[in-house]
Amino acid sequence: MTEGKRIAIAQGVLSKNDAYARKNRAFLDARGIRAFNLIGSPGSGKTTLLEAFALRLGEKLAVIEGDLQTRRDAERLEKKGILAYQIETGGGCHLDAEQVERALQAMDLRRCQILMIENVGNLVCPAAYDLGEHAKIALLSLPEGDDKILKYPSIFRRVRALVLQKIDLLPYLDVNAARVESEFRLLNPEGSIFRVSAKTGEGVDDLLRFLQTVSP
Ligand code: MG
Ligand code: ZN
Repeated sequence: MTEGKRIAIAQGVLSKNDAYARKNRAFLDARGIRAFNLIGSPGSGKTTLLEAFALRLGEKLAVIEGDLQTRRDAERLEKKGILAYQIETGGGCHLDAEQVERALQAMDLRRCQILMIENVGNLVCPAAYDLGEHAKIALLSLPEGDDKILKYPSIFRRVRALVLQKIDLLPYLDVNAARVESEFRLLNPEGSIFRVSAKTGEGVDDLLRFLQTVSP
């Protein structure tokens, strides 16, 4: 395949995705729902953060979960009393807007004010797919190390906020949180930073207040 043909195919995939993303955003706007695309590595604590949101928001929160396989994360949130829809990608390493459109059609969102879309654990290709969200949020946990921001710039450049998760572990790790924050500010001067521990609850209320100010 020629380079030109490869680029044309990639652009076709993304423009189809963008058409679904626009449809999703219009659907959400019509219902006054703020939607966020939550992106982070496997094990960074995305679902645990959503459990902490569930405690505070109750049925105002709904969640779309993306994983390769299993309903495990949706089940965790259902146990907290939250409407959760699981997308199993069957191997796909990111969500696309068409998958999210099917989820939106299937969910009863009458009580929902905040929709969190937990992407497949991955810091690379989720950056390229608009799902129809109002903002992307990156989550990086301290045990992953302090060198990740400049290694994965495409995601950190595009997000509205960086959540530094598992901040309660800071005393036990050889990690420089200030380095993470300064590299993030270098890439994304407009982005906000939140130090959070979903486990202890530190910073969760501040983060939620911020999300509630993002205009739908
Ligand atoms: Mg998860
Ligand atoms: Zn992917």
